[in-house]
Formats: sequence, C-alpha cells, structure tokens
Amino acid sequence: MSSPDVCIAGAGIIGLSLALELQSRGARVVVLEQGLPLAEASTAAAGMLAARDPENPPELQSLSELSRALYPRFLDHLFRLSGTTVSFQTSTTLQEVHASHLEADRGLTLLSNETLSILQPQLNTRDRRFILLNEESLDPRELAQALWAAIQATEIEVRSHTPAHFVQTGSSKIEVHTTSEILHPRYVVDCTGAWGLTQLPPGHVLPLPRKGQMLAIQLPPSVPLHLVLRTPDIYIVPRTTGPAAGRAVIGATVEDVGFDKTVHPEDIARLRSAATELLPGIADAVAVETWAGLRPGTSDGLPLLGQVTEQHFISAGHYRNGILLAPATALVMAQILAGERPAVDLGAFTPLRSLHSGIAQP
Ligand SMILES: Cc1cc2nc3c(=O)[nH]c(=O)nc-3n(C[C@H](O)[C@H](O)[C@H](O)COP(=O)(O)OP(=O)(O)OC[C@H]3O[C@@H](n4cnc5c(N)ncnc54)[C@H](O)[C@@H]3O)c2cc1C
Repeated sequence: MSSPDVCIAGAGIIGLSLALELQSRGARVVVLEQGLPLAEASTAAAGMLAARDPENPPELQSLSELSRALYPRFLDHLFRLSGTTVSFQTSTTLQEVHASHLEADRGLTLLSNETLSILQPQLNTRDRRFILLNEESLDPRELAQALWAAIQATEIEVRSHTPAHFVQTGSSKIEVHTTSEILHPRYVVDCTGAWGLTQLPPGHVLPLPRKGQMLAIQLPPSVPLHLVLRTPDIYIVPRTTGPAAGRAVIGATVEDVGFDKTVHPEDIARLRSAATELLPGIADAVAVETWAGLRPGTSDGLPLLGQVTEQHFISAGHYRNGILLAPATALVMAQILAGERPAVDLGAFTPLRSLHSGIAQP
C-alpha cells in the first residue's frame, strides 16, 4: 500500500474499532502492531460494560452511555462483516455501594435483603448494601475473534510485529517510521494503550500501565450466577453462553509496577478469598486459568482523546473501561479526524492538558 490516509499505531480494541469506523467512511487505513493484534489489555479484560459503576469518574458518563447505546450496532456491524455473533453474557449488575456513593447520588435505590436473596441466592449481604444496575457484559475474547474476522473481511491492512515510531518533521508534519520503511499518512492516531507512543511535554497527563491480575473458576452447579457481582474492590463476572459458559472471571488487582505481567499466586489467593467472602458457595470451585493484563491508565484517570498537532491524534488511556468505550471512541475519533463536531464533548479528554491546571498549551 502506498502511504495510507490514516496510520493507526496499536491493534487493540481501540485501534481496530477505529480502523473499522474509518474504513466504513471510505478511508484507506493501515494499522501497525508491535506484537500480535488483540493480545494485550483487550483480551485480558473481564468484559463488563460498566457504564454506571459509581466508581467511574463523572467525566466519563456521556461517552459511556453513548458507547453502551452504540454496542448493539457495533456488534451487528461485526456480524455483517465476519458472520460471527457476539452475545451479551449478562444484562444486570449487583453493585455494592458505600456511603460516599449514596451521598453522591441520592437517586440510588438500595435493595432489601429479601430482594437480594431472590436475585442472587447465597450472596453474603452482611454489612453490605447493594443496588441493581442495568449494564451488560460480554466475553472480550469472543469480541476479539469477531473484531479480527471483521477486520480481515475489509481492506484494512494490519501489520503485526511492526513497532511504530512517530517522527515530527516540522511544526505540523509527521512521519511514521518502522524498521523497514517510512510512511507519510495524512493522519496518525496513537492507539498504543498503556505504552503511550506519543511524546507529550513535561507536566502533561501521561499514559501509564496499571496491571490487573485475574482468575477464572468453574462455577459449581450449586451456584447459579446470571448477573455480575461487583464491589468497589472485586467483581465476579459469569460467562453464561459461548465456549466459556459455566465459568466466572474474578478480578482484579490494580498495580503500578510498569510493564510486568507476572501472575503472583498470593495475589490470586487474595482475589479468591474476597470473592468467596462475597459468594461463599464458590469456596471449592476449581480455578481454570490465571492471567494479568496492562490497563492503559493515565496520570489523571481520564482518557487521552483528540488532536496533538495537525496530523497527529491520540486515542488511548481508557483504563478500566476500554471494552465499554470502544464503539463511542471509534465514532468520536472518526468524527474529529473528519473535522466534524464529536457526538459528545471531549473537552475533559484533550491530550494537551496539564496534570493540575486543565488544558495546557501545545
Ligand atoms: C484485568 C483487566 C480487566 C479489565 N476489565 C475491563 C472490563 O470489564 N470492561 C472494560 O470496559 N474494560 C476492561 N479493562 C480495560 C480494557 O481492557 C482496556 O481499557 C482496553 O483493552 C484498552 O484497549 P487498547 O486498544 O487501548 O489497548 P491494548 O489492547 O493494550 O492495545 C494496545 C496495543 O498497542 C500495541 N503497541 C504498543 N506500542 C506500540 C508501538 N510502538 N507500535 C505498534 N503497536 C504498539 C500493543 O502491543 C497493544 O497490542 C480491563 C483491563 C484489564 C487489564
């Protein structure tokens, strides 16, 4: 391919869903991936579309609600291209709330113990208060398979094992260098997640990896689980259909340890113990898998979405919500690349913001 219209660095869910959106608008897109596509955070995730988690920063609400609303259309688009169906695994979440959540949102309705015992038999409700949230979850590995098959059904070119480097060649010109060539696309988009390819000036909000360790258990037949259980510290996410049906994912640690993805048995044991305290029936459940992934965090907890220079854009830093936010992020990034007004206000996410004083000068 001669130099494409758009070169995306990073083939996670954020880069590939943007590639699809741009391609459907007629752009020629190439995606450069340092390793293999969809092999990092995007397949390490639990898959909650946690648009209403009271722990989310309020600035994320509009983008989250838009993304949740776009999900059926996104999955349908993947199905039309790939023939692969991705089903929601659950449609509700029992969320444990703390006093601070209740103060922040007076509209929250606490569930009685009687209701809780019907919604989730065997749930340990002692000293805990819960609300019910309408939120879906899906299996990110199924999603990744469908997304990859959809990409392959298009003319989008994805180059694996091809790390990208951005080289600024003037105040507004940018080149993309690989070990074997130099690309001159009209636009580049940094979707490198936790790695953060873009050099932002000192004092700006920076991307950073935030490790999460997880485990999957086989749910015992005596413990039916058809919704997500979430506390401010842990979650239990059942897989109800597909190849992983009958399992539940338990997560996750949040660690600032750089790019280390080692799984530590003692951390997994702590997750298990917290999950068992919440749902005692899983005490003897067989553990079937453990893993760790690197959430793309940022130093102020909000994504980096927008323009850096005339040709250079970033879409990264989705932290705990990149699976949820992928469809809306793809839409708004495609809109700003096309010079359109984005469907939601992206002011809080501008990449050129300083850590303490809001928007910084480029
Ligand atoms: C344990 C865990 C649980 C999670 N649970 C949820 C959840 O329940 N719900 C939810 O919505 N989100 C969840 N997330 C968050 C979600 O997984 C991420 O926000 C999302 O996957 C980010 O997607 P991404 O494409 O930005 O990053 P990634 O999937 O990490 O992709 C970035 C890609 O960029 C590539 N790259 C890096 N540098 C370069 C370079 N120089 N050149 C080319 N390529 C490069 C990397 O190799 C990688 O493939 C979870 C994450 C973790 C780790």
